[in-house]
Amino acid sequence: MNEVLVDVRDVRKDFHVGKITVNALRGLDLEVRKGDFLAIVGPSGSGKTTLLNLIGALDVATGGVVSVFGQDLSTLSRRRRAHLRLTSLGFVFQAYNLVPVLTALENVEFVLELQGAGSERREAAMSVLDELSLGELSGRRPNELSGGQQQRVAVARAVAAKPRLVLADEPTANLDSENAEALLRMMRGLRDEHDMTFVFSTHDPLVMSYASRVVTLRDGRVISDEQKNSDAHEHRRAN
Ligand code: ADP
Ligand code: MG
Repeated sequence: MNEVLVDVRDVRKDFHVGKITVNALRGLDLEVRKGDFLAIVGPSGSGKTTLLNLIGALDVATGGVVSVFGQDLSTLSRRRRAHLRLTSLGFVFQAYNLVPVLTALENVEFVLELQGAGSERREAAMSVLDELSLGELSGRRPNELSGGQQQRVAVARAVAAKPRLVLADEPTANLDSENAEALLRMMRGLRDEHDMTFVFSTHDPLVMSYASRVVTLRDGRVISDEQKNSDAHEHRRAN
């Protein structure tokens, strides 16, 4: 069995909205292992985004333990959590969160620079944009790109530094099937070539067909966890 990168144990997350408490996660357990290409599915409101935010150290659990790379996130200072995010995690937000005044290329380069990349960063940024067929759009700012193009830039930014773990919240939600497949193939190639691990939430059957494992949430808990043959997609297409 591969190394456990993420260990989520009996995790609860409550949100307080006025006098109302929303129990978004209700005793959730999940282990993510190195090399997983894991799809988290489940109806809207089942807790997918909340779970990704906790694993990505963007939010803290109300109860239970979230460990990433063997570190209990609740024991880390805000600064240490930021360091962990910067050095070892890539995060694709559902709302992209691109920097509006920077071009596509600069958005990717900027993160590489924060991570300490030297003069090779422009080339590295360009190469990942090319892989996502964004090379010709590298000089555009986010408001000059379609939603789907912005989404691909957000993915390029998250994977450019080859972090050990990439978390992506519905990364194909605004893509047509051709672009979605290109994205999935790129991500799976990274997993294979660079020992990276991917966890993404999705509603998309295409994404699920590429996953090596599908975890289904309902009402803030895991209701099924299915390991699949990671080559299932090629197999299906070949037939
Ligand atoms: P999903 O991503 O599966 O659609 P979410 O994790 O976004 O689900 O939401 C799980 C539940 O928590 C929902 O009931 C949602 O309304 C609630 N929720 C999520 N974030 C917040 C928040 N910041 N404040 C209040 N309620 C929230
Ligand atoms: Mg969501």
